[in-house]
Amino acid sequence: QSKQSDTKPVVFYRRGMDDSYIRLIDIEPELKQAFANNEFTLHLQPLFNNSGSLLSSFEALVRWQHPQRGLIAPSQFLPFIEELGLATRLDDWVLEHCAQLLSRWRALGNEVLPVAVNISARHFQNPELVIKLKSLFRRYQLNYSDIELEITENVAMTDLQAGLNVLQQLQELGIRVSIDDFGTGYSSLAYLRRLPVDKIKIDRSFINELLGEHQDSGGNIVRTLIELSHGLKKRVVAEGVESAAQLELLSQMQCDQMQGYHLSPPINLKMALEMLQSHWKTQSANEKMAPTGA
Ligand code: C2E
Ligand code: MG
Ligand code: MG
Ligand code: MG
Repeated sequence: QSKQSDTKPVVFYRRGMDDSYIRLIDIEPELKQAFANNEFTLHLQPLFNNSGSLLSSFEALVRWQHPQRGLIAPSQFLPFIEELGLATRLDDWVLEHCAQLLSRWRALGNEVLPVAVNISARHFQNPELVIKLKSLFRRYQLNYSDIELEITENVAMTDLQAGLNVLQQLQELGIRVSIDDFGTGYSSLAYLRRLPVDKIKIDRSFINELLGEHQDSGGNIVRTLIELSHGLKKRVVAEGVESAAQLELLSQMQCDQMQGYHLSPPINLKMALEMLQSHWKTQSANEKMAPTGA
């Protein structure tokens, strides 16, 4: 277990033959309770620029603050949320809370950095999503660039036409979309060309292999992904950057944004605001040093 991980894996129930059925019916009332009692909580993981030195955005990652079991990681409860048909409800909760957060940050008088929200597969196929987002941005008076969406590549691929429609509408509004965990799904770079998305997030399994035993092949795959994505005018994010050596190599490969434990684990909202405020300070100090700066 990683010491930097901010959530502990929790074993809910003893494994058995009919284990998934038992677990689901047992956990259902607890999850409904979680919505009713507002037991979900958001952590934010910072993303940095190409050199890893400048904060550039955040990703919202949900946790379940269980009254008895403590902080529970999404991998432990999201499958149940999906199975119970509660994924859209959770996404809506996350979107609403991120919008609230951004409007509080904005009220502090500075330019906010974007927050990315993960959107579940089924939710993304729903045309209601665009209508809901429009109303959300209006209610909180946010810019369309303040919230970015992350979808996995399979989302856009399973029903390509539905996915394309939603993506086109989002693009027209100026809401940016990233393809998450890129390289783990079944899409190809040929499809990528057709998808109006802004960013590709290279899955951390590729970043992991960069300097491992398969150094050459790993390095070549990531370099090729970055070059092809840039050729398609898409920005590239490296997920799961865990060492200075990985950061340096990715930086040389012109990867646009960096995310991972080496730079920062997901942090609570108070720490995220502190990080944003120190970013604001650095920015204004830089502006003073270069008053004519374009
Ligand atoms: P993801 O969207 O790919 O998010 C990145 C995951 O990698 C996060 O796990 C993050 O804590 C972890 N991570 C970040 N840096 C490193 C690193 O350097 N090394 C390693 N080993 N891991 C790193 P987390 O928070 O447990 O979330 C897991 C997945 O659950 C997310 O993967 C996303 O697919 C899903 N998820 C999280 N929050 C939400 C949400 O609000 N809504 C939806 N629909 N899905 C969510
Ligand atoms: Mg994500
Ligand atoms: Mg990801
Ligand atoms: Mg991932």
